[in-house]
Amino acid sequence: TEQRKKRPDWLRVKLPIGPEYAKVRKLVDTYKLHTICESGNCPNMGECWGAGTATFMILGNVCTRSCTFCAVATGRPNEYDTDEPRRVAEAIVLMKVKHAVITSVNRDELKDRGAEIWYQTVRAVKEASPETTIETLIPDVKNNWDALIRMIEGGQEVVSHNMETVERLYRRVRPQAKYDRSLEQIRRTKEYGQRTKSGIMLGLGETKEEVVKAMDDLVVNGLDILTLGQYLQPTKMHHEVIEWIHPDTFAMYQEEGLKRGLKYVESGPLVRSSYHAERHVHV
Ligand code: SF4
Ligand code: SF4
Repeated sequence: TEQRKKRPDWLRVKLPIGPEYAKVRKLVDTYKLHTICESGNCPNMGECWGAGTATFMILGNVCTRSCTFCAVATGRPNEYDTDEPRRVAEAIVLMKVKHAVITSVNRDELKDRGAEIWYQTVRAVKEASPETTIETLIPDVKNNWDALIRMIEGGQEVVSHNMETVERLYRRVRPQAKYDRSLEQIRRTKEYGQRTKSGIMLGLGETKEEVVKAMDDLVVNGLDILTLGQYLQPTKMHHEVIEWIHPDTFAMYQEEGLKRGLKYVESGPLVRSSYHAERHVHV
């Protein structure tokens, strides 16, 4: 209905303009890099890019999966680009990025799930810019737990893996993923001694009970930091927005999460998994 489609006031945002934004845009193009900010049509581009930060997406911009909320193209991925770690590191130096968020598409067709490129990228950034802190937002390794270790042994400060939604909605929202497998990935990441982070999008038809249950599951599996934000439909082809979650409800979830033992909860309509990421390094 019309009612459902019209965005509430609290989701109106500034357009991404200004000299800083233009500078980042140019660098990202010159170095043939991809950002999730653009691929995901993120509403915070004005704020984040204006502040000189961006989320880099490595391992190409074509994904082997077809999550129904995601604007990244599905298909046969491009070539394996072993020069990408160097270009990401160089861009980070030129952009003077203090905190870098790095993510990737899923590369299920690769035996190592892309773990080696992940490792090389984190090492290249740390060598080129030792002061830069890094969050890696990693994909589902699909039971390749050796690949997980390689992916997270490069020395980043935060390892993120997004649950995206509640258990019941997995088949419709993340058809190639499994709720328990993603929880296990977070548990193993914690056991490897990492600061762990995850994100859930709201407005996909989940109930409050289901969100709270997901929080409990995450706490049990060693999660430190959780982000909760409003799902926005990237195109008509994607999963519908079922509900606009009120800011007060986001505030309630934040309280609930902290009460349940999470160390940090970032919760609000415009929160994205990489929003305010620099604050999560010291949690
Ligand atoms: Fe990019 Fe994340 Fe900022 Fe969105 S919130 S613009 S994806 S860094
Ligand atoms: Fe998008 Fe990640 Fe799902 Fe691929 S695995 S479709 S990049 S959310």
